[in-house]
Amino acid sequence: MIRQKFPLLSIAAAKIGSLQVRNRATVGGNICTARPAGDTIGPLLAYGAKVQLVKGKENRWETLEKFITGPGKTTKKEGEVLAAIIIKPFADNTGVSYIKYGVRKAMEIAMVSITTSLTFDGNKCQAASIVLGAVGPTFIRSIDAEESLRSSEVTLSVAEKAAELAAACCIPITDVRASAEYRRELVRILTKRGIMEALSQYQNSQDH
Ligand SMILES: Cc1cc2nc3c(=O)[nH]c(=O)nc-3n(C[C@H](O)[C@H](O)[C@H](O)COP(=O)(O)OP(=O)(O)OC[C@H]3O[C@@H](n4cnc5c(N)ncnc54)[C@H](O)[C@@H]3O)c2cc1C
Repeated sequence: MIRQKFPLLSIAAAKIGSLQVRNRATVGGNICTARPAGDTIGPLLAYGAKVQLVKGKENRWETLEKFITGPGKTTKKEGEVLAAIIIKPFADNTGVSYIKYGVRKAMEIAMVSITTSLTFDGNKCQAASIVLGAVGPTFIRSIDAEESLRSSEVTLSVAEKAAELAAACCIPITDVRASAEYRRELVRILTKRGIMEALSQYQNSQDH
């Protein structure tokens, strides 16, 4: 069901750590860790996730966007347990892509992650979501890039322009794994790639 309705989540979950880590890790734990490189978070944001926090008989719902407030920081209060997640599937005519960039194929935390979804009306993009991971204190939705794609026929040059806008809005840091400049350049290249992958995934789904 997850593969069919929420492909971004299954693609991203399959890229976490290793077989052993994936067997023990939970989505709730991935969210509560609140790392800017957390692999399930970009897809969950793209699906408009809301999370339920329960403490005894009390419970509250919050959008995932508001729940994560900084690196390793959430609005979770002492004693609260993340008990449920609600996500909405995309419309049928949607192509998706999840790119996790790292130097190893396993046991790798994303240097940059790009979550892309494009919903089409014929050959025009009707709605887009582009979520950038590991290039800011929390995940960043590139609103300018999304808007530049809306109502457009997605070509390589349209994807390039959107990718420039995504690179302009990220706020990467330099750490042991990559410099800020390198991460920004990765955002530009991988956003373009993500858009073209989402387009071709949509086109292939129309052929079948
Ligand atoms: C070797 C290794 C490789 C890894 N690779 C990746 C990777 O590639 N990508 C990635 O995103 N992460 C990776 N991780 C990080 C981690 O394994 C994942 O984030 C995992 O999803 C965490 O889930 P968990 O259930 O193990 O949470 P835990 O580690 O058990 O918990 C994390 C924190 O969240 C709290 N918590 C957990 N569940 C809940 C809940 N339901 N309600 C309230 N609080 C909760 C815990 O109290 C704790 O503070 C890796 C970790 C290791 C050790």
